[in-house]
Amino acid sequence: MEDNSGLSHDEQYSTAVTVEDFRANIAEVEQRISAAVERAGRDRSEIELLPVSKTVPQERIRAAVAAGCHKLGENKVQEAHRKSEEMADLDIDWAVIGHLQSNKAKFVAQFAAEFQALDRLKVARALDRRLQSEGRSLDVYVQVNTSAEESKFGMPPEELVGFLKELRSFETLKVQGLMTLAIFSSDVERVRPCFQTLRTLRDRALETDPELIGHGRLSMGMSGDFEVAIEEGANCVRVGQAIFGKRALPDSHYWPENG
Ligand SMILES: *Cc1c(COP(=O)(O)O)cnc(C)c1O
Repeated sequence: MEDNSGLSHDEQYSTAVTVEDFRANIAEVEQRISAAVERAGRDRSEIELLPVSKTVPQERIRAAVAAGCHKLGENKVQEAHRKSEEMADLDIDWAVIGHLQSNKAKFVAQFAAEFQALDRLKVARALDRRLQSEGRSLDVYVQVNTSAEESKFGMPPEELVGFLKELRSFETLKVQGLMTLAIFSSDVERVRPCFQTLRTLRDRALETDPELIGHGRLSMGMSGDFEVAIEEGANCVRVGQAIFGKRALPDSHYWPENG
């Protein structure tokens, strides 16, 4: 089997500025997706490509939108909220994909179409209360920690089913599935088990009760590892640098120890 799933693509991520740059980068990502879809015997339509625009300024985001991006992921709620106001003239669905403190739930309830990092009841409660007063609902993914010692994000796998049961009482939260961040490693075979864990948890939750987990979608895989995630069943891949270009700061800046 051809090995296209090496993880060290980051050296070649060029910064996209113009609409043409974005078209070219997206086409390259689509080629990588197609190759993985083919290897896995899956269908392209099962997988959503979510472009992640964190740190990217408005002018470049506008070019990305002109190139066809209409849903964007942001990991910091205030940055996302600001951008949603700056670009209110555009047709963009905003997905908040990073850790949220319950005191910032009101922002998410105001503008986000989706929240992918739900991992605590306190946040679910705060979101539900704010969404009710806004008269809105929100698509959510429950974030699970699939790398135990390596990460402080997401809920422990053993608490997942209990948490999903509690979420049923929040009518404004529409559970779509599960999300994870794999460990940060350039070694495919250390990353793959995180994705496999998420898939197994999804399958078990479906067995426990098919109504527990919405469509049972899996959000996993980023610029460096989305092929592996697709091979392991991803339904949403969150891709930043391969579309927008290399970020100036290392990943540790975006996922600080204490969120
Ligand atoms: C930044 C980010 C991504 C995308 O990472 P890239 O390396 O830019 O593809 C995916 N998921 C989350 C939660 C992120 O914060």
